[in-house]
Amino acid sequence: MPDIEKDKPCKSVSTIDYICIKRENKKDKFMSVTFYINNNDKYVDENCPEKIIKETDDCQCVDFSDNGKPVSTCFTCKGKGTISITYYPYEMNIANGNFYTLMNALGLDDECYGEIDPRTLLKAINRTPTSLIERHTTQSGGNGKVTMISCGIAPEQAQGYIDTLKEIAIEAEKREEKIYWC
Ligand SMILES: [Zn+2]
Repeated sequence: MPDIEKDKPCKSVSTIDYICIKRENKKDKFMSVTFYINNNDKYVDENCPEKIIKETDDCQCVDFSDNGKPVSTCFTCKGKGTISITYYPYEMNIANGNFYTLMNALGLDDECYGEIDPRTLLKAINRTPTSLIERHTTQSGGNGKVTMISCGIAPEQAQGYIDTLKEIAIEAEKREEKIYWC
């Protein structure tokens, strides 16, 4: 699994470093990428806090333990077994594989972190047919070998990515802020 904080130097210490640290509380930080507007937390807290969703989820230590119980020494949940997750509007979390497919279809930089002007993103979205983001589920192996299944991207899912990304870009343009992903 790639460790972006160790394997790659941050592009800019002032912004990207901060983002990596800020997003560290993501449950699956090395398996997904989050798009969001610069200063989104602050803006939403001050202008539309009713759009914030708070949920409780099992900690990863429970998912990976043999007996389904929390690990008492777990650094993340301190042995509680649950973590609270806060979802902000104008953010999109996407699995790594789907992120690469999406960015390649849009013709954009597919580094696992970066920044983009909302106008550039809107242009890319408007010139990209959603069908380019769709991907069939493939299965390989079998015949006694390990079966590998690569999950596809269904048309509704591809449309969902585009709709959400567009909403983020329009909002970022309104706020005169950049969009980051990490
Ligand atoms: Zn834990």
